[in-house]
Amino acid sequence: MASAETIVVIGAGVIGLSTALLIQEQSGSTQSVLLVARDFPSDTSINYASPWAGAHYRPVPGSSPQALREASQALRTFNYLKQVAAGEPAAGIKFLQGIEHLETPPPEYLDAQSVSNVYHFEDFRSLKDDEVPAGVKWGAEYGTYVINSPVYCAYMLRRFILKGGRTQQYTLVNSKEAFALANNVKTVVNCSGTGFGDPKSFIIRGQTCLVRNPVSATITRQNADGAWSFCIPRPLEGGTVIGGTKQPHDWDPNPSPEIRAQLLANASKWFPFTPESGGQFDVIRDIVGRRPAREGGMRLEVEQVEDGKSIVHAYGAGGRGFELSRGVAEDVTALMLESGLLRVQAKATL
Ligand SMILES: Cc1cc2nc3c(=O)[nH]c(=O)nc-3n(C[C@H](O)[C@H](O)[C@H](O)COP(=O)(O)OP(=O)(O)OC[C@H]3O[C@@H](n4cnc5c(N)ncnc54)[C@H](O)[C@@H]3O)c2cc1C
Repeated sequence: MASAETIVVIGAGVIGLSTALLIQEQSGSTQSVLLVARDFPSDTSINYASPWAGAHYRPVPGSSPQALREASQALRTFNYLKQVAAGEPAAGIKFLQGIEHLETPPPEYLDAQSVSNVYHFEDFRSLKDDEVPAGVKWGAEYGTYVINSPVYCAYMLRRFILKGGRTQQYTLVNSKEAFALANNVKTVVNCSGTGFGDPKSFIIRGQTCLVRNPVSATITRQNADGAWSFCIPRPLEGGTVIGGTKQPHDWDPNPSPEIRAQLLANASKWFPFTPESGGQFDVIRDIVGRRPAREGGMRLEVEQVEDGKSIVHAYGAGGRGFELSRGVAEDVTALMLESGLLRVQAKATL
């Protein structure tokens, strides 16, 4: 008798974990999931982006196919995380006020269609001139969420294992190697962040600073020189992330003291930390991570390899992996269903 089929998911970042959980939820008893990764939520590596993320949800206006696809993924993720936050306080998700102040808004912010394509919040409100600080040309507020990223990843891994998911810590040389890691593997889902040598993949270095000082909203400020500042309170007393840089192709693994000083100086000018801070920051640590970006956005497609085997690619989330995570997982399972790679669990009838 043929052994039950194993679906191998490569990657235990927010994309791999979200995808493995959803495949596991949807698949029947003839398929099981093995999660294979070099890094798991208890590991820290500069090349493992997820634990370093802020992470907050801040839409990016646009009308391109990529912007519209991401807006749909982001909306589905928003609705899903609302449910998780309500049922599982330990997941590390909190809904709170998001505020944006832009000094030199890019053209998409001034295009009503591009804005309404992505800001789906029922309570979205443009701020009037007398409600924003001097110099700000575009302002908005809405109800959004923040995530304690290492806590949320650990929560997903725990759920996956409790539901019978298997894991293996292993560094793959290429995605095809994953077919050899279990018996009867027909499908490998590649959530490796950067892919395996995809020439369209590149990294965007991010440096932030984690401080103990509390703040009650997530605020994003675009400065006149084009640089962005943000503060993200991390749920479950995880401190506040003050950011941040976006440096494409910059491989420096070390935090820059000059960047830290600049981030904190901007934060003390623009963000309303509680008075007891006295303008001083109680720094926990600097953070440097590499966002796994890709020209044109994520690769989401099925590649047929040999002998009826398939690789489903889902990598290249750049700076939006948490915001898009559940939507991406849903798109992956939809692709797998369309291609006959996933056999849905039959629901019991009464
Ligand atoms: C400073 C900073 C701030 C950020 N802020 C936000 C934010 O506010 N909101 C937001 O949504 N996103 C944010 N991001 C981006 C977010 O972190 C990424 O989009 C997300 O983590 C990507 O997830 P991933 O699962 O694709 O990749 P990763 O988290 O990098 O995971 C990749 C997985 O693949 C595994 N892997 C890779 N190669 C191999 C191999 N050869 N063999 C075996 N396993 C392999 C790794 O071990 C890992 O388990 C931020 C990122 C940084 C650095």
